[in-house]
Amino acid sequence: MHLDSLKKLYVHQLKDLYNAENQVLEALPKMAKAASDEELRAAFEKHTEETRGHLGRLEKIFGGLDFEPGGQHCHAAEGLIKEAKELMRANAEEPVLDAALVAAAQRFEHYEMAGYGTARAFAKKLGEHDAVELLTETLDEEAKTDRELTRLAERSINFEAMVAG
Ligand code: FE
Ligand code: FE
Repeated sequence: MHLDSLKKLYVHQLKDLYNAENQVLEALPKMAKAASDEELRAAFEKHTEETRGHLGRLEKIFGGLDFEPGGQHCHAAEGLIKEAKELMRANAEEPVLDAALVAAAQRFEHYEMAGYGTARAFAKKLGEHDAVELLTETLDEEAKTDRELTRLAERSINFEAMVAG
């Protein structure tokens, strides 16, 4: 593949992530508020802060390219948020609501992990070494969050939801 067209695709991926992260940043505090489990709420709050860092890293990467980070809408993130809202409405009772929040959040984490993994692979091909490092840091935080959500779900949330049901 011609490097110019790969770079165009790379920038497209980064812009998509930048918009997705901004949408996540808006949704996460609401999800934290809705959570009844202390640890789950703390996990959402922590990931809100991490998400600010993810945006900062993307801005850093864009600073090294001749592009602005904005101007693209991530339709997938919008859809994931819509589904999260539906899920929260349909499972409004504690502690099933917590299980629904985890289900929605993990879809997000996996979407982000796919995006960052792809962007990092492109950055490697393009020889953008600083970007590879920054994208790896974010990818690791997304993966860690996903594991933490799994731990919380398996430890208590889903089980309590089942008992309540
Ligand atoms: Fe993120
Ligand atoms: Fe995330």
